[in-house]
Amino acid sequence: MKNYSNLLLKLSRHLFTNLDEREKFVEALTHPQPFNPCILWCKEKPESNPFSTEVATPWQPKFIDRLSLGEKPGQHSLHEQGYFYCLDFSSVFAASILLAIPQPVNKVFDMCAAPGGKSVFAWKNLQPDLLIANEVIGKRLGMLISNLKRCQIEPSLVASKDPSFFADTIPLSCDLVMVDAPCTGQSLLAKGEKAPGCFHPTAINKSANRQKRIIANSGQIVAPQGYLAYMTCTYSPEENEEVCEWFLQRFPQFKAVEAKHLEGYQSNLTNLPCYRMFPQDGLGAGAFTVLFQNTEEGEEKVLEVEVLPAVWRNINCRD
Ligand code: SAM
Repeated sequence: MKNYSNLLLKLSRHLFTNLDEREKFVEALTHPQPFNPCILWCKEKPESNPFSTEVATPWQPKFIDRLSLGEKPGQHSLHEQGYFYCLDFSSVFAASILLAIPQPVNKVFDMCAAPGGKSVFAWKNLQPDLLIANEVIGKRLGMLISNLKRCQIEPSLVASKDPSFFADTIPLSCDLVMVDAPCTGQSLLAKGEKAPGCFHPTAINKSANRQKRIIANSGQIVAPQGYLAYMTCTYSPEENEEVCEWFLQRFPQFKAVEAKHLEGYQSNLTNLPCYRMFPQDGLGAGAFTVLFQNTEEGEEKVLEVEVLPAVWRNINCRD
Protein backbone atom coordinates (compact mmCIF):
# COMPACT_ATOMS: atom_id res chain seq x y z
CA MET A 1 0.00 0.00 0.00
CA LYS A 2 2.80 2.37 0.95
CA ASN A 3 4.64 1.60 -2.25
CA TYR A 4 1.41 2.19 -4.23
CA SER A 5 0.93 5.58 -2.56
CA ASN A 6 4.53 6.56 -3.28
CA LEU A 7 4.14 5.66 -6.93
CA LEU A 8 0.88 7.61 -7.16
CA LEU A 9 2.51 10.67 -5.55
CA LYS A 10 5.44 10.39 -7.93
CA LEU A 11 3.05 10.28 -10.89
CA SER A 12 1.14 13.29 -9.55
CA ARG A 13 4.39 15.28 -9.32
CA HIS A 14 5.20 14.34 -12.89
CA LEU A 15 1.76 15.39 -14.15
CA PHE A 16 1.22 18.66 -12.24
CA THR A 17 3.52 21.46 -11.17
CA ASN A 18 0.62 23.10 -9.32
CA LEU A 19 0.37 21.71 -5.78
CA ASP A 20 -3.38 22.22 -5.48
CA GLU A 21 -4.03 20.38 -8.75
CA ARG A 22 -1.70 17.57 -7.62
CA GLU A 23 -3.62 17.13 -4.37
CA LYS A 24 -6.99 17.15 -6.13
CA PHE A 25 -5.76 14.49 -8.56
CA VAL A 26 -4.58 12.19 -5.73
CA GLU A 27 -7.84 12.79 -3.85
CA ALA A 28 -9.89 11.84 -6.96
CA LEU A 29 -8.07 8.51 -7.14
CA THR A 30 -8.04 7.68 -3.46
CA HIS A 31 -11.61 8.86 -2.69
CA PRO A 32 -13.54 8.25 -5.93
CA GLN A 33 -16.75 10.21 -6.54
CA PRO A 34 -19.49 9.13 -8.96
CA PHE A 35 -19.49 10.53 -12.51
CA ASN A 36 -22.63 11.27 -14.49
CA PRO A 37 -23.72 8.40 -16.73
CA CYS A 38 -23.68 9.12 -20.41
CA ILE A 39 -25.39 7.83 -23.56
CA LEU A 40 -24.77 7.99 -27.30
CA TRP A 41 -27.97 8.10 -29.37
CA CYS A 42 -27.55 5.63 -32.24
CA LYS A 43 -31.06 6.28 -33.58
CA GLU A 44 -33.05 9.54 -33.59
CA LYS A 45 -33.67 10.81 -30.05
CA PRO A 46 -37.33 10.40 -29.05
CA GLU A 47 -39.18 13.75 -29.02
CA SER A 48 -39.35 13.70 -25.28
CA ASN A 49 -36.08 12.58 -23.72
CA PRO A 50 -36.81 9.89 -21.11
CA PHE A 51 -33.76 10.99 -19.09
CA SER A 52 -32.86 14.06 -17.13
CA THR A 53 -29.71 15.58 -18.62
CA GLU A 54 -26.87 17.90 -17.61
CA VAL A 55 -25.87 21.05 -19.52
CA ALA A 56 -23.77 19.97 -22.51
CA THR A 57 -20.08 20.86 -22.73
CA PRO A 58 -19.36 23.16 -25.72
CA TRP A 59 -17.53 20.43 -27.66
CA GLN A 60 -19.93 17.57 -26.98
CA PRO A 61 -21.69 16.24 -30.13
CA LYS A 62 -25.49 16.48 -30.35
CA PHE A 63 -25.86 12.69 -30.28
CA ILE A 64 -24.38 12.55 -26.75
CA ASP A 65 -26.30 13.18 -23.54
CA ARG A 66 -24.66 13.42 -20.12
CA LEU A 67 -27.34 12.31 -17.70
CA SER A 68 -28.09 13.32 -14.15
CA LEU A 69 -26.55 11.28 -11.37
CA GLY A 70 -28.83 8.40 -10.46
CA GLU A 71 -30.16 7.81 -14.00
CA LYS A 72 -29.81 4.15 -15.02
CA PRO A 73 -30.06 4.19 -18.82
CA GLY A 74 -28.98 0.55 -19.20
CA GLN A 75 -32.23 -0.51 -17.51
CA HIS A 76 -34.51 1.45 -19.90
CA SER A 77 -36.38 -0.50 -22.61
CA LEU A 78 -34.98 1.83 -25.32
CA HIS A 79 -31.54 0.42 -24.50
CA GLU A 80 -32.51 -3.12 -25.47
CA GLN A 81 -34.12 -1.72 -28.64
CA GLY A 82 -30.75 -0.27 -29.68
CA TYR A 83 -31.69 3.40 -29.37
CA PHE A 84 -28.54 4.24 -27.46
CA TYR A 85 -25.18 2.96 -26.22
CA CYS A 86 -24.05 3.62 -22.62
CA LEU A 87 -20.49 4.90 -22.18
CA ASP A 88 -18.34 6.97 -19.83
CA PHE A 89 -17.90 10.66 -20.51
CA SER A 90 -14.13 10.04 -20.65
CA SER A 91 -14.75 7.78 -23.65
CA VAL A 92 -16.80 10.55 -25.26
CA PHE A 93 -13.89 12.93 -24.67
CA ALA A 94 -11.34 10.52 -26.18
CA ALA A 95 -13.53 9.71 -29.20
CA SER A 96 -14.41 13.35 -29.81
CA ILE A 97 -10.92 13.81 -31.31
CA LEU A 98 -12.68 12.40 -34.41
CA LEU A 99 -14.65 15.65 -34.70
CA ALA A 100 -11.45 17.24 -36.04
CA ILE A 101 -11.49 15.00 -39.16
CA PRO A 102 -12.93 16.53 -42.34
CA GLN A 103 -15.57 14.33 -43.95
CA PRO A 104 -16.22 12.17 -45.91
CA VAL A 105 -14.44 9.26 -44.26
CA ASN A 106 -15.17 6.03 -46.08
CA LYS A 107 -13.26 3.20 -44.41
CA VAL A 108 -12.94 3.16 -40.63
CA PHE A 109 -10.86 0.54 -38.83
CA ASP A 110 -11.08 0.14 -35.04
CA MET A 111 -8.04 -1.92 -34.01
CA CYS A 112 -8.95 -2.45 -30.31
CA ALA A 113 -12.72 -2.48 -30.52
CA ALA A 114 -14.42 -4.43 -27.69
CA PRO A 115 -16.91 -3.69 -26.22
CA GLY A 116 -17.55 -1.22 -29.08
CA GLY A 117 -17.95 2.31 -27.70
CA LYS A 118 -15.47 4.04 -30.02
CA SER A 119 -16.71 2.03 -33.02
CA VAL A 120 -20.29 3.16 -32.37
CA PHE A 121 -19.10 6.77 -31.91
CA ALA A 122 -17.11 6.71 -35.18
CA TRP A 123 -20.02 5.15 -37.07
CA LYS A 124 -22.50 7.70 -35.76
CA ASN A 125 -20.21 10.68 -36.33
CA LEU A 126 -18.64 9.75 -39.67
CA GLN A 127 -21.21 7.45 -41.33
CA PRO A 128 -18.48 5.46 -43.12
CA ASP A 129 -19.26 3.09 -45.97
CA LEU A 130 -17.52 0.35 -43.96
CA LEU A 131 -16.62 0.00 -40.28
CA ILE A 132 -14.16 -2.79 -39.43
CA ALA A 133 -14.09 -3.57 -35.71
CA ASN A 134 -11.17 -5.77 -34.68
CA GLU A 135 -10.75 -7.40 -31.26
CA VAL A 136 -7.81 -9.74 -30.76
CA ILE A 137 -9.05 -11.30 -27.49
CA GLY A 138 -11.53 -14.04 -28.45
CA LYS A 139 -13.57 -13.91 -25.24
CA ARG A 140 -14.30 -10.19 -25.76
CA LEU A 141 -15.85 -10.74 -29.20
CA GLY A 142 -19.30 -11.70 -27.87
CA MET A 143 -19.98 -8.34 -26.25
CA LEU A 144 -18.61 -6.44 -29.25
CA ILE A 145 -20.83 -8.31 -31.72
CA SER A 146 -23.89 -8.10 -29.50
CA ASN A 147 -23.46 -4.31 -29.13
CA LEU A 148 -23.01 -3.76 -32.88
CA LYS A 149 -26.06 -5.96 -33.52
CA ARG A 150 -28.23 -4.29 -30.87
CA CYS A 151 -27.36 -0.81 -32.11
CA GLN A 152 -27.71 -1.87 -35.77
CA ILE A 153 -24.28 -0.61 -36.74
CA GLU A 154 -24.09 -1.20 -40.48
CA PRO A 155 -22.26 -1.64 -42.75
CA SER A 156 -19.81 -3.22 -40.34
CA LEU A 157 -17.75 -6.35 -39.86
CA VAL A 158 -15.85 -7.83 -36.95
CA ALA A 159 -12.41 -9.45 -37.16
CA SER A 160 -10.15 -11.01 -34.54
CA LYS A 161 -6.51 -10.78 -35.54
CA ASP A 162 -3.27 -9.40 -34.21
CA PRO A 163 -2.61 -5.87 -35.58
CA SER A 164 0.42 -7.17 -37.53
CA PHE A 165 -1.93 -9.23 -39.73
CA PHE A 166 -3.56 -6.08 -41.09
CA ALA A 167 -0.26 -4.25 -41.56
CA ASP A 168 0.71 -7.13 -43.89
CA THR A 169 -2.60 -7.68 -45.69
CA ILE A 170 -4.31 -4.29 -46.07
CA PRO A 171 -1.59 -1.59 -46.00
CA LEU A 172 -2.48 2.05 -46.89
CA SER A 173 -6.18 1.25 -47.24
CA CYS A 174 -8.21 2.92 -44.45
CA ASP A 175 -9.20 6.59 -44.07
CA LEU A 176 -9.28 6.35 -40.30
CA VAL A 177 -7.66 3.83 -37.96
CA MET A 178 -8.50 4.03 -34.26
CA VAL A 179 -6.21 2.65 -31.55
CA ASP A 180 -7.98 2.75 -28.18
CA ALA A 181 -5.01 1.00 -26.69
CA PRO A 182 -4.91 -1.58 -23.90
CA CYS A 183 -3.20 0.22 -21.01
CA THR A 184 -2.50 0.03 -17.28
CA GLY A 185 -6.00 1.47 -16.69
CA GLN A 186 -5.02 3.91 -13.93
CA SER A 187 -8.27 5.85 -14.42
CA LEU A 188 -10.25 2.84 -13.19
CA LEU A 189 -9.26 3.92 -9.68
CA ALA A 190 -11.16 7.20 -10.11
CA LYS A 191 -14.26 5.09 -10.80
CA GLY A 192 -13.73 3.08 -7.62
CA GLU A 193 -12.58 0.03 -9.59
CA LYS A 194 -9.40 -1.98 -9.22
CA ALA A 195 -6.34 -1.77 -11.47
CA PRO A 196 -3.72 -3.94 -9.74
CA GLY A 197 -0.12 -2.90 -10.29
CA CYS A 198 -1.18 0.03 -12.49
CA PHE A 199 1.52 2.40 -11.18
CA HIS A 200 4.35 -0.13 -11.20
CA PRO A 201 7.17 0.79 -13.59
CA THR A 202 7.35 -2.79 -14.94
CA ALA A 203 3.62 -2.80 -15.79
CA ILE A 204 3.85 0.66 -17.36
CA ASN A 205 6.87 -0.34 -19.43
CA LYS A 206 5.26 -3.56 -20.61
CA SER A 207 2.10 -1.70 -21.54
CA ALA A 208 4.02 1.05 -23.39
CA ASN A 209 5.91 -1.55 -25.44
CA ARG A 210 2.64 -3.23 -26.43
CA GLN A 211 1.15 0.15 -27.34
CA LYS A 212 4.14 0.93 -29.57
CA ARG A 213 3.74 -2.38 -31.36
CA ILE A 214 0.01 -1.80 -31.90
CA ILE A 215 0.36 1.81 -33.09
CA ALA A 216 3.26 0.90 -35.43
CA ASN A 217 1.19 -1.83 -37.10
CA SER A 218 -1.92 0.35 -37.17
CA GLY A 219 -0.07 3.26 -38.79
CA GLN A 220 0.74 1.04 -41.75
CA ILE A 221 -2.88 0.57 -42.76
CA VAL A 222 -3.66 4.31 -42.83
CA ALA A 223 -4.20 5.53 -46.41
CA PRO A 224 -2.24 8.52 -47.75
CA GLN A 225 -3.84 11.65 -46.21
CA GLY A 226 -5.79 9.36 -43.83
CA TYR A 227 -5.96 9.62 -40.03
CA LEU A 228 -4.83 7.62 -37.01
CA ALA A 229 -6.48 8.28 -33.63
CA TYR A 230 -4.64 7.06 -30.51
CA MET A 231 -6.24 7.07 -27.06
CA THR A 232 -5.90 5.50 -23.62
CA CYS A 233 -7.65 5.61 -20.24
CA THR A 234 -4.45 5.91 -18.24
CA TYR A 235 -2.35 8.83 -16.99
CA SER A 236 1.29 7.79 -17.23
CA PRO A 237 3.22 9.81 -19.86
CA GLU A 238 5.13 6.66 -20.90
CA GLU A 239 1.85 5.24 -22.30
CA ASN A 240 0.67 8.51 -23.80
CA GLU A 241 2.88 11.44 -24.90
CA GLU A 242 5.97 9.20 -25.05
CA VAL A 243 4.22 6.69 -27.33
CA CYS A 244 3.25 9.59 -29.62
CA GLU A 245 6.79 10.96 -29.71
CA TRP A 246 8.18 7.49 -30.43
CA PHE A 247 5.61 6.96 -33.21
CA LEU A 248 6.39 10.27 -34.95
CA GLN A 249 10.12 9.55 -34.85
CA ARG A 250 9.62 6.11 -36.33
CA PHE A 251 6.97 7.20 -38.90
CA PRO A 252 7.89 10.76 -39.90
CA GLN A 253 5.25 10.78 -42.66
CA PHE A 254 2.69 11.34 -39.85
CA LYS A 255 1.98 14.66 -38.15
CA ALA A 256 -0.15 15.34 -35.07
CA VAL A 257 -3.23 17.40 -35.92
CA GLU A 258 -4.78 20.13 -33.77
CA ALA A 259 -8.30 19.61 -32.46
CA LYS A 260 -9.42 23.20 -31.83
CA HIS A 261 -12.51 22.16 -29.87
CA LEU A 262 -10.28 20.42 -27.29
CA GLU A 263 -7.64 23.14 -26.90
CA GLY A 264 -8.63 23.70 -23.26
CA TYR A 265 -7.46 20.14 -22.57
CA GLN A 266 -3.96 20.48 -24.09
CA SER A 267 -1.42 18.25 -22.31
CA ASN A 268 1.27 20.32 -20.60
CA LEU A 269 3.79 17.46 -20.99
CA THR A 270 4.46 17.96 -24.71
CA ASN A 271 4.34 20.53 -27.48
CA LEU A 272 2.37 18.10 -29.64
CA PRO A 273 -1.40 18.64 -29.80
CA CYS A 274 -2.31 15.90 -27.28
CA TYR A 275 -5.35 16.21 -25.05
CA ARG A 276 -6.05 14.98 -21.53
CA MET A 277 -9.09 14.85 -19.28
CA PHE A 278 -8.46 14.48 -15.52
CA PRO A 279 -10.83 13.13 -12.85
CA GLN A 280 -10.56 16.18 -10.57
CA ASP A 281 -12.43 18.19 -13.22
CA GLY A 282 -15.51 16.13 -12.40
CA LEU A 283 -16.55 15.10 -15.92
CA GLY A 284 -14.98 11.67 -16.23
CA ALA A 285 -12.31 9.38 -14.78
CA GLY A 286 -9.70 10.50 -17.30
CA ALA A 287 -8.42 9.88 -20.79
CA PHE A 288 -5.71 10.78 -23.28
CA THR A 289 -6.38 11.42 -26.97
CA VAL A 290 -4.45 12.47 -30.07
CA LEU A 291 -5.00 12.54 -33.84
CA PHE A 292 -2.31 11.93 -36.48
CA GLN A 293 -2.52 12.43 -40.23
CA ASN A 294 -0.54 10.52 -42.83
CA THR A 295 0.92 13.33 -44.95
CA GLU A 296 2.05 10.99 -47.78
CA GLU A 297 0.75 11.73 -51.25
CA GLY A 298 -0.53 8.90 -53.38
CA GLU A 299 -3.45 6.63 -54.00
CA GLU A 300 -5.35 4.86 -51.28
CA LYS A 301 -5.02 1.07 -51.80
CA VAL A 302 -8.30 -0.63 -52.63
CA LEU A 303 -9.58 -2.56 -49.64
CA GLU A 304 -10.65 -6.04 -50.72
CA VAL A 305 -13.36 -6.84 -48.19
CA GLU A 306 -13.04 -10.54 -49.14
CA VAL A 307 -9.48 -10.72 -47.75
CA LEU A 308 -10.71 -9.59 -44.33
CA PRO A 309 -11.11 -12.58 -42.02
CA ALA A 310 -14.54 -11.57 -40.70
CA VAL A 311 -16.01 -13.49 -37.76
CA TRP A 312 -19.26 -11.50 -38.11
CA ARG A 313 -20.58 -9.15 -40.76
CA ASN A 314 -23.51 -6.84 -41.36
CA ILE A 315 -22.79 -5.25 -44.71
CA ASN A 316 -26.03 -5.55 -46.68
CA CYS A 317 -27.37 -2.10 -46.15
CA ARG A 318 -25.24 0.40 -48.06
CA ASP A 319 -23.12 -0.03 -51.22
N1 SAM B 1 -12.38 0.65 -27.88
C1 SAM B 1 -13.12 -0.06 -26.86
C2 SAM B 1 -14.40 0.71 -26.58
O1 SAM B 1 -14.42 1.93 -26.74
O2 SAM B 1 -15.38 0.09 -26.18
C3 SAM B 1 -12.29 -0.30 -25.63
C4 SAM B 1 -10.95 -0.92 -25.94
S1 SAM B 1 -10.00 -1.37 -24.53
C5 SAM B 1 -9.43 0.14 -23.96
C6 SAM B 1 -8.57 -2.06 -25.29
C7 SAM B 1 -8.81 -3.30 -26.10
O3 SAM B 1 -7.57 -3.72 -26.67
C8 SAM B 1 -9.34 -4.48 -25.29
O4 SAM B 1 -10.54 -4.94 -25.84
C9 SAM B 1 -8.25 -5.53 -25.43
O5 SAM B 1 -8.74 -6.83 -25.51
C10 SAM B 1 -7.55 -5.13 -26.71
N2 SAM B 1 -6.16 -5.64 -26.82
C11 SAM B 1 -5.43 -6.28 -25.87
N3 SAM B 1 -4.23 -6.63 -26.37
C12 SAM B 1 -4.19 -6.19 -27.64
C13 SAM B 1 -3.22 -6.28 -28.67
N4 SAM B 1 -2.03 -6.86 -28.47
N5 SAM B 1 -3.54 -5.76 -29.88
C14 SAM B 1 -4.73 -5.17 -30.09
N6 SAM B 1 -5.68 -5.05 -29.15
C15 SAM B 1 -5.43 -5.56 -27.94
